[in-house]
Amino acid sequence: MIHSWRTFTTVVLGLVAVLLLCFAGSVQADAAAAKQKLRVVVFGGHPDDPESGAGGLVAMLTRAGHEVICAYGTSFRGDRKINGEPEGVVRRREATAACKLLNATPKFFDYAHEKLFADGPTLEAVRAWLDEVKPDIVVAHWPLDMHPNHHVVSSLVWQCYKRSGVWNLYFFEVETDMQSISFRPELYLDIEGVRDLKKQALDCHASQHPDDIWKLHDAMHCRRGTECGVRHAEAYWLVEAKPGVPLLPVTFIGPKK
Ligand SMILES: [Zn+2]
Repeated sequence: MIHSWRTFTTVVLGLVAVLLLCFAGSVQADAAAAKQKLRVVVFGGHPDDPESGAGGLVAMLTRAGHEVICAYGTSFRGDRKINGEPEGVVRRREATAACKLLNATPKFFDYAHEKLFADGPTLEAVRAWLDEVKPDIVVAHWPLDMHPNHHVVSSLVWQCYKRSGVWNLYFFEVETDMQSISFRPELYLDIEGVRDLKKQALDCHASQHPDDIWKLHDAMHCRRGTECGVRHAEAYWLVEAKPGVPLLPVTFIGPKK
């Protein structure tokens, strides 16, 4: 009897030890997943869109050690010049400086404003680039937008997502009610700690009247902040949480009840 009781006790203690080891392993795996370095693409129509719509998010992600690529669908109109320099040269230089501040990497697509369409060849080019980059998450313009370049970029990203994207898709807003239309955010991001850096990134776009852009967007920060109970917030919308695919590794706030 004593012998069998000892055997029973030994087996129970062994099982407890195995369970504890499994639990510890699971905690370690969760911690490792939390620390996983993600690659996020923020896809805008023009230089200054990723910065104005999602600059706070970009800054928070890169500060946490994640990789961010700011993609720009178009940087110039025809042969337009700014102070004698081709517009594309000026605007790429400004966006490159903004990305440097935000610790992000720029990617410029070589389409003119008036030649950026959601057609087959452009879709193929964007899809091939995303396939090569293999992002974990893409953040793009909200589809309902008054600016055709924003609308086209959103459509291109959406079609890539529906076809084969093994990444999660979020939308951001720009100049709401003037450009983004009927945006109903679900996710709010408190950007207080990176607001100054976001402004500095926008200020890099000297050819685009950055004070005016900031004024509009900071009013949006206040409006979105009021909606979620902080001073300044950016707002996002997640299409769906794909199983097994990472979500943005930031703490979002829901709307105030
Ligand atoms: Zn734009």
